[in-house]
Amino acid sequence: MTNESFIPNPPPRPNHYLDEQFWENCRNHVLAFQCCTSCETWRHIPRFMCAKCGSPDWEWRQSSGKGIIYSWTVVHKPMTPHFESIFPYAALVVEMEEGVRITAGLQDLDLDKIEMDLPVEVVFETLENGAVLPFFVPRKD
Ligand SMILES: [Zn+2]
Repeated sequence: MTNESFIPNPPPRPNHYLDEQFWENCRNHVLAFQCCTSCETWRHIPRFMCAKCGSPDWEWRQSSGKGIIYSWTVVHKPMTPHFESIFPYAALVVEMEEGVRITAGLQDLDLDKIEMDLPVEVVFETLENGAVLPFFVPRKD
């Protein structure tokens, strides 16, 4: 692999239009999740039917972008060459204020400072290929 072909982070590869819409919102720096319009239950990852009430009716709603660290892992060894420049890094499971959980990377916090329930908020980072990924940073409020 040459330096010219090095990709610091692989882009998302959506499998269907719901995933494409999620990533399109991220490209606009909007973190949005589906919400069932029959029972008001939020959901993530994107899917076609409400797991609570079975309704096919839903809409995208913008998240507050705020949540708490529900779980995490620190990666000390890159699984692919894409991540060689950034390890060790933390992958978080964040429980959002809306109740859904999302997996994303951590920024702006030493790895030994990660703790359960730490308040975090979303930020967006643009990759060289134009894709935009959500990351979480410690909340300042
Ligand atoms: Zn529902």
